[in-house]
Amino acid sequence: MRHLHWFRNDLRLKDNPAIASHTAADSLLCVYLMPKPRPWCNLVGVGAQRERFLRESLQDLHQQLVERGQALMVLEGSPELVLPDLVARFAITEVSTTFTPGSYERKTLAYLDEKLTVPLQVHRGNSLFEQPDLPFELEDLPKVFSPFRRAAEKLNVRGPSPSPEALPPPPAAQFDAIPPADTSKPTMLPLPGGRAAGLRRLRQFVFDDRSITQYKETRNCLDALDGSSTLSPWLANGNLSVREVAHEVFRFEREDLSNESTYWLFFELLWREFFHWRAVVDDAQMFKIGGSSGKIRGNTFDPRNFARWCAGDTNFPLVNALMRQLVATGWMSNRGRQIAASCLINELKVDWRFGAAFFEKHLIDYDVGSNYGNWQYIAGVGGDPRGGRHFNIDKQAGQWDPQGIFTAKWDGDRPSQPHYVIDAADWPIGEGH
Ligand SMILES: Cc1cc2nc3c(=O)[nH]c(=O)nc-3n(C[C@H](O)[C@H](O)[C@H](O)COP(=O)(O)OP(=O)(O)OC[C@H]3O[C@@H](n4cnc5c(N)ncnc54)[C@H](O)[C@@H]3O)c2cc1C
Repeated sequence: MRHLHWFRNDLRLKDNPAIASHTAADSLLCVYLMPKPRPWCNLVGVGAQRERFLRESLQDLHQQLVERGQALMVLEGSPELVLPDLVARFAITEVSTTFTPGSYERKTLAYLDEKLTVPLQVHRGNSLFEQPDLPFELEDLPKVFSPFRRAAEKLNVRGPSPSPEALPPPPAAQFDAIPPADTSKPTMLPLPGGRAAGLRRLRQFVFDDRSITQYKETRNCLDALDGSSTLSPWLANGNLSVREVAHEVFRFEREDLSNESTYWLFFELLWREFFHWRAVVDDAQMFKIGGSSGKIRGNTFDPRNFARWCAGDTNFPLVNALMRQLVATGWMSNRGRQIAASCLINELKVDWRFGAAFFEKHLIDYDVGSNYGNWQYIAGVGGDPRGGRHFNIDKQAGQWDPQGIFTAKWDGDRPSQPHYVIDAADWPIGEGH
């Protein structure tokens, strides 16, 4: 048995059911394919910090594999072309990957399932619950969070499985060094990619600093590490498993303290879970202007307003600071994302999908369900019957940045990034995508 595992957003060995399924194989080829921009947003691509975090994560994963006599092969190219070629070249007998929602991702798997001459096993590993655990059929999945949360919080979160101590050897192949990213970690928020850094942050936030005990009060802070867990980049890339994070929170509650704040972190993981399953159900609908509701807003694409928003050059200093933080660090707080998204949709009247695509490019924690799901909520095209969210930006600035410290940190007379030069003709965005 010669197996191949195609890593995607499961960049870890612990609690990775797909990897655990290969321990008895004769050989195992571990592969990662660098992401390609979606066809409808070629202009967007993968931002410098997102790529940096990803490459650091891949190097870290390679190191974990080397410790087990393995290696990671990082290639460029589309899975539709590369994987059948690898299967033939290394006489692979089984291919595995970990499930991720997304319409293109589903189509790719359907294509591979047909095209590959060997079985393709798709494992679950990036959600708190398996599909059979859910108390709903997928077609009956609630469109709003509260009924989902009420049902989901009663479910048992299975414990994470250990990482295998040994793995089958790789086939005789050339494993090139993984090139580092062109950019370095931002000094303002140096979040390193890779499991080791994710574990350090988890331990620091939960056990060492006990910040989790005040999380409910501090989670809206605009700067990372000050208020919220900042675990999202490691969760989105799969350096940490969400079940592992949940179980560390439960352990803290058993061994130290359980309060509203410790519960609230789990509550937020349920939001992630909600958007994960909604993305599975909504599929291509998630990327349409009317979102999962089908409601059409009047917003269109205004290149000038969009360019100003991207560059942090709007009439709202707080939004400018947030957008510069995003481009420079690849991260923005939840409150910041809500304010920036509301500004693009409600003040600048731009089609929400352009903002979502820009976030997709830059966020080091980009996650298809959480990103497009949250944008839909703000735009009022998700399942929420209350409609969208319109934030009063001055009021938000007064509440969350009363002394202007955050805004000043990212201030400058001129935008810190050059204006994005956008030709509307490069954006063939339409209902078909
Ligand atoms: C417009 C917009 C776009 C977003 N895009 C993404 C994205 O691409 N990837 C992403 O992981 N999150 C996204 N979020 C959700 C949220 O902003 C981030 O998860 C959170 O800010 C990450 O910081 P943290 O780890 O410190 O979160 P914490 O407050 O510490 O929360 C702990 C974890 O719970 C999950 N979580 C928290 N809030 C949400 C939420 N509203 N929706 C889904 N999961 C949540 C995350 O996994 C997070 O790491 C988006 C929110 C908005 C409003």
